[in-house]
Amino acid sequence: MTAEVQLKPGKEKSLLRRHPWVYDTAVARVKGKPERGATVAITAHDGRWLAWAAYAPDSTLRARCWSFVEGERIHADWLAAKVRAAVARRAPLFEATNAVRLVFGEADGLPGFIADRYADQLVVQMQSAGAEAQREALFDALVAATGCTQVFERSDSAARTREGLAPAQGVARGAEPPARIEIHEHGVRYLVDVRLGHKTGYYIDQRDNRLRVAQLTARWRQQHGRAPRVLNCFCYTGGFSLAAARGGAGAVLSIDSSAEALALAREHWVLNACAAQGEWRNADVFEALRALKAEGQTFDLIVLDPPKFASSHRHVDRAARAYKDINLNALRLLAPEGNLLTFSCSGAIDVDLFQKIVAGAVIDARVDMQLMARLAAGEDHPLAMTHPEGEYLKGLWLNRV
Ligand code: SAH
Repeated sequence: MTAEVQLKPGKEKSLLRRHPWVYDTAVARVKGKPERGATVAITAHDGRWLAWAAYAPDSTLRARCWSFVEGERIHADWLAAKVRAAVARRAPLFEATNAVRLVFGEADGLPGFIADRYADQLVVQMQSAGAEAQREALFDALVAATGCTQVFERSDSAARTREGLAPAQGVARGAEPPARIEIHEHGVRYLVDVRLGHKTGYYIDQRDNRLRVAQLTARWRQQHGRAPRVLNCFCYTGGFSLAAARGGAGAVLSIDSSAEALALAREHWVLNACAAQGEWRNADVFEALRALKAEGQTFDLIVLDPPKFASSHRHVDRAARAYKDINLNALRLLAPEGNLLTFSCSGAIDVDLFQKIVAGAVIDARVDMQLMARLAAGEDHPLAMTHPEGEYLKGLWLNRV
């Protein structure tokens, strides 16, 4: 017998709109004794069937919906069909790269299941009790859909703790991954450490924006007849720095507080035979931006891609001050007609709020800036229209006039 999670009166509304999350506060009673991750029926207070969902007894997200179709059954074949479809949708991306997010949780109808591909290595994150309970079926499906035989698990994100699951890392299928996996993206070569790297090893989500930096660098050369000076803040392993070099930057200054990330960034610089003058600073960006101002430096293109400053809604005010600080101090270094690409990956700060914060920095910097485009994650990080919470990476491309 499938257990049933019955909702309080009125709490069925979001599910009728196909929003995939059931909060603990919406639950009236649980009929049966579902185990963590088990598939349950979600019903309205009047008994009406609403969805099939995975039960998470320890989480405020008490259940995450697999399906809103009563006739469906959540078994291995059903999961495999979802995985196959998600993988197939990404096929066009492989023209430009071999580092692709194949499955993006809720956006692909598989809540809490993340799968990335680096060359022939798969890396997964199981962020929900439901994904965890279905792990073997999901891994089988992934291997079948891709033909890759190696799966490494990086289930070490905070999301997992909230689901009552312990962090887990290790080989899930096949052999140990190599220490570094070489991938390529729009003609740039990178080395990815899937064991120790951030997220699953690399910021796949910034692919389109790295390409944008390469294009803007090339365009600047054409329009101004000289190579731009580029500043990349929070550079990690040098993604945006390499893109700028590829676009023909004259000099690229990259800043990060992680010595390990900078060491790999330097290797990438050599690996790609970058002609630009590369300088790496192991420093705190908040301090470094002020130091650069004191040194009288200016830049024609600046990238700000900080870590998540707001981990939840409680931290929005503090995060807003941090975003404003770096944007203000970056604007003070931006040469006339320079471009600023500024990002936030805090889900708790939406694009409108982020734009207001940056506008505040523009006003304080007393410069005229045009918003050229809003930026987002690549198409392998889609957003389910019924699940706005899935949007996290947002960026603004501003041009100084
Ligand atoms: N732009 C990168 C990803 C950036 S991730 C890419 O496209 O690959 C954020 C980076 O910020 C991490 O490498 C982290 O080490 C660094 N970082 C975090 N806080 C910092 C600080 N206060 N000053 C400098 N670097 C910081």
